[in-house]
Amino acid sequence: MDLTVPTIFDGHNDVLSRLAAAGRADAAETFATGPGHINHERARAGGFGGGFFAVWIPSPGGGTIDFDAMAQPRYSVPLPPQVPQPDALAGAMRQAALLANLEEAGALKICRTAGEIEATLGGERLAAVFHVEGAEAIDRELAALDVLHAAGLRSLGPVWSRPNRFGHGVPFRFPSSPDTGPGLTEDGLRLVDRCLELGIMLDVSHLTEAGFWDIARRTTKPIVATHSNAHAITPTARNLTDKQLAAVAESGGVVGLNFASAFLREDGRMLGDVPLATMLRHLDHLLAILGEDGVALGSDYDGALVPHEVDGVERLPNLRRAMSAHGYGEALITKICHGNWVNVLRRTWGA
Ligand SMILES: [Zn+2]
Repeated sequence: MDLTVPTIFDGHNDVLSRLAAAGRADAAETFATGPGHINHERARAGGFGGGFFAVWIPSPGGGTIDFDAMAQPRYSVPLPPQVPQPDALAGAMRQAALLANLEEAGALKICRTAGEIEATLGGERLAAVFHVEGAEAIDRELAALDVLHAAGLRSLGPVWSRPNRFGHGVPFRFPSSPDTGPGLTEDGLRLVDRCLELGIMLDVSHLTEAGFWDIARRTTKPIVATHSNAHAITPTARNLTDKQLAAVAESGGVVGLNFASAFLREDGRMLGDVPLATMLRHLDHLLAILGEDGVALGSDYDGALVPHEVDGVERLPNLRRAMSAHGYGEALITKICHGNWVNVLRRTWGA
């Protein structure tokens, strides 16, 4: 059994913000063989074929996510302050340039259709979907959205876990309902409409429950959460309730399993000793509500503390082996590993 097959195409990684934080001079080299959860060499060894590459802007003051606070039995990390739009735009340009540089260096291809993803998976280059996580960089007139779309942007989450012009995100809080505040603003609803016109996939991960329903009511497309888990198992603000999952299912949407330990562990703590059985427990629950066409992966690699056994793309064969040992058939494993992302993107983008 070749444990690097089927290829994994994944709903969320933070490689671009990691490379940006390290300085961009040798980004292509760092991406080829450097440290972190993902590099090109180890991706090939682990059968990681690509995924959604997020542009994410750190909060003012260099605010990284407080994993120490999240390791406690209960926590409520305060929402970070808003990022001024000009600062966010400058940061987004840097990260979008890094993505373009990686394409130029032959490491990946920025895919604009599902057909391009399929054609790229399994080849030398990684398949990348250009994603924005938190729309802070976008101005009120949405001019930056049009320009980013022209540069290849095909997926957008209106908010990260902080407020912005367009809406409100959930705090990192355990235990907590995802119903933590207001949803989308009027500008947020215009952003959703323009994304629908442009064919940019909308991502509900990080939104408050009110924001989730704002998108669910407004969209004509499948509802997608690129990196979220089951609230019924891990009652953190970042996970989706069974009612939300039922709405995703009803729309023909997809949820990508987030590997972040705090969203997997029943006790909500950001600690790495998480058995693969816990990941399978979430997958089973998601499959029960979403069906075999509605569940995928959304690792959060390079943005989260993840279980030791999948700590880096080279360890992904452990997850394939565990899914197989758990009784998932080859067809289902292929759908989870990449088929469901390709399928929902084709239905969302129209090609
Ligand atoms: Zn995220």
